[in-house]
Amino acid sequence: MEILDRTVEAAAGELSAIAEVLGEGGEQSSPRMRRRRVSRRTLLLPVLHALRDEVGYISEGAVQEISERLEVPRADIYGVASFYALLPTEPQPPKTVHVCVDMACRFAGGEQLLEEVRSQVDADEVAVHESPCLGQCENAPAVYVEKTGESRASITDAVSQKVIALLNAASPQTGAEKTSAEDSSTLQALSHPIASQTGAEKIAADASTSTLRAYSIGEARLLRRILNTTPPTLEGYGDFTALRAALQNGREWVLENLEASQLRGRGGAAFPAAVKWRGVAESQEPVRYVVANADESEPGTFKDRLLMENDPFALIEAMAIAGYVTGAQKGYIYVRDEYPLACARIEQACREAQAAGLLGENPAGGDFSFHIELRRGAGAYICGEETALFNSIEGYRGEPRNKPPFPTESGLFGKPTLVNNVETFANIALILNDGAQAFAQIGTEQSRGTRLFCVSGACEHPGTYEAPLGTPLSNLLEAAGAADSARVLLGGAAGAFASQDQQNVPLSFEDTTAASLTLGSGAVIVIDPEADMGDLLGRITDFFADESCGQCVPCRVGTVRQQESVARIHTNGESPSELSLLDDLDAVMTDASICGLGQTAASAVRSARRANLF
Ligand code: SF4
Repeated sequence: MEILDRTVEAAAGELSAIAEVLGEGGEQSSPRMRRRRVSRRTLLLPVLHALRDEVGYISEGAVQEISERLEVPRADIYGVASFYALLPTEPQPPKTVHVCVDMACRFAGGEQLLEEVRSQVDADEVAVHESPCLGQCENAPAVYVEKTGESRASITDAVSQKVIALLNAASPQTGAEKTSAEDSSTLQALSHPIASQTGAEKIAADASTSTLRAYSIGEARLLRRILNTTPPTLEGYGDFTALRAALQNGREWVLENLEASQLRGRGGAAFPAAVKWRGVAESQEPVRYVVANADESEPGTFKDRLLMENDPFALIEAMAIAGYVTGAQKGYIYVRDEYPLACARIEQACREAQAAGLLGENPAGGDFSFHIELRRGAGAYICGEETALFNSIEGYRGEPRNKPPFPTESGLFGKPTLVNNVETFANIALILNDGAQAFAQIGTEQSRGTRLFCVSGACEHPGTYEAPLGTPLSNLLEAAGAADSARVLLGGAAGAFASQDQQNVPLSFEDTTAASLTLGSGAVIVIDPEADMGDLLGRITDFFADESCGQCVPCRVGTVRQQESVARIHTNGESPSELSLLDDLDAVMTDASICGLGQTAASAVRSARRANLF
């Protein structure tokens, strides 16, 4: 699509998909709606999703129709649609297969699977794409399938026969029937209780199409219900006792407990949670928001998916408590689109909580209101950056904003916003129910509580591990059955390789920082000592070049130059000039990029060189 044709019109199917989100039309002529134009723009991503789901792509006619309905320029709409990998602007075959070729899946034969699937399908019927990490690394290789007008699904432990079988499976439902089919797949998964395999510390059970692999080192807290095979229903979860305690004891009691717990954010930045909560709670702005960042896209990270799929009420109760404490009346959960089961279970859980009087008006009898809306991402890693996520919800390209102002002052829709990631929220009810001291006595001086680590790659027991912060890396590797000589990438693509003499580093914020490592998102990718490091670093640099939003020059250009340099070294061997170029690119990207993507894009290459792995 280059020049939009004013004469094109949306087809009947497109009008129907648009009406699902925007209603039947006419609102744009209302002065009241014109005044609300900014807030109506927030419907842009949902309406683009509706078109992708029902029609398969975003046509010129659909852009024209949305432009008139939302009063957003057509070029703006095209700019948003073309920003996201999962919103095509050209006609597509009716089925699309995304095969993960990122690290864990690469080790498990993802590239071979990609070629096998390509060779076995009719290109007019099925589009086959390689994909960055799909967040299913413990069950690699992974595939994500979209069937236009029918369904979305993940396939784990994928082989080509499994993929072809799903592509050929009848999915007769459309519209409301399709929605209930998604529900029934949820309920089907819910009706399969998680079977304990070897006691409370180790389980492997069928949940939907994937094997649930979760373990704990020491007492399980965040994984308590999952390891106890508690079904992810409201009955299994309980009566929101933490919310009730908050209502009984007041806002300040919650904030003091959070401060005493010393909880730090689990999304990567490790910012003290209580500072954010108090910042929004004490704002003078009447309108505020709560946002759960569930756009878990760091390669090698899958713990938030585990929590959302198997313990969704922990997130919902925490957000309701946040709504009460901060005065926000609206919360958003922004989930990456490649997590269809998590989306279905969160929506189901919200419906259950609402029906039980635990969300909406006067939750649990409290004198406040709080509503939660789920938003789907659309295949953009950068939308895990909090301000990019705000732009995405608001209906703009998911480009990060300059900070300051920080979200607690000016976040979503320019209002004070509390944004935490899913694992951070999952700690809130634990702290209030078990007491801040019980939480704070676990861990190290600057890293309290437990942490979820996503172990994948070359080990016998990949999965989500809960361990006290400060647990030595070697303990985690031993529990996961990794070879002594294995290499380790900590923190995902934006993380760093641990050298052989760093295998005992305590997994705490302060110890990893002192060792020039990072806990990041909790990814622990185990790499076979015989693995081709040039190929692996090539994959990491490809990832950053693809995912850079392009807004600032150091990252837009630097990630591509780094990609080219690593490819040349992989082919021709290193030379002083190439290494000097990598050093320069590292310095410029790290110092001058707007956001964390560019600032960490050279980290893996730098650490691999430091550890003599490349
Ligand atoms: Fe975009 Fe990269 Fe700049 Fe971040 S650092 S704003 S991802 S171009």
